[in-house]
Amino acid sequence: MGSLTLSNVTKSFGKTEVIKGVDLEVQDGEFCVFVGPSGCGKSTLLRMIAGLEDVTSGDVMIDGKRVNLLPPSKREIAMVFQSYALYPHLNVRDNMGLAMKRAGASKAEVTQAVINSAQMLSLETLLDRRPAELSGGQRQRVAIGRAIVRRPKLFLFDEPLSNLDAALRVATRIEIARLHYELGATMVYVTHDQVEAMTLADRIVVLNAGKVAQVGRPMELYNDPANTFVAGFIGSPQ
Ligand code: ADP
Ligand code: MG
Repeated sequence: MGSLTLSNVTKSFGKTEVIKGVDLEVQDGEFCVFVGPSGCGKSTLLRMIAGLEDVTSGDVMIDGKRVNLLPPSKREIAMVFQSYALYPHLNVRDNMGLAMKRAGASKAEVTQAVINSAQMLSLETLLDRRPAELSGGQRQRVAIGRAIVRRPKLFLFDEPLSNLDAALRVATRIEIARLHYELGATMVYVTHDQVEAMTLADRIVVLNAGKVAQVGRPMELYNDPANTFVAGFIGSPQ
């Protein structure tokens, strides 16, 4: 449940090819982190997995099923963005329950699922508030809480911590690691932060200008970088 395969995936915007043939297998339950400098294509790759962008060529497979033509709502994924992307006019309860309600769940089912997820993230006391009445850290917890409500098999995170201050970044990172452990779901996590990558990942995918520079466990990349780009990025002393 929740494996991901990318086969020779490319993406062009107009004449510019920004993803240049990416092959990758992410195992069920794995925590896979995409790292690389700004503009290397991390978000574009994640958005293609989510179905928010079409692939120009190649295949995206979730659980062995080709999903190239499926809309995001049919891919059994949840995505957490840097910008939280909460609905400002809805309270936390309704922000969290909306997708499940739209998918046709009963009111009782939605209520129970929202309570379960709120408990996992200690959001019970915030359920009646609107986003404007929350701090940045609380908004991101709600965005994560919303992502887990439907128990997706694949979670996609795009730099979820970058709008938080240093202390909250550490606390939220620990929370995400705990959720990964408790839910056993597959997570694909984008960051340009080496520390986040090293601490969260089972495996790191280093991207450079739309290509995979190296894939490996954190200590493999640290001790045995394939080239100077990876060495410079993962920060192994030379
Ligand atoms: P990252 O997330 O690693 O910072 P992105 O995936 O956002 O990088 O962008 C990769 C490249 O694709 C960049 O050169 C960016 O300018 C370009 N790009 C991203 N989205 C679009 C778009 N909708 N139209 C044109 N170019 C885009
Ligand atoms: Mg990005």
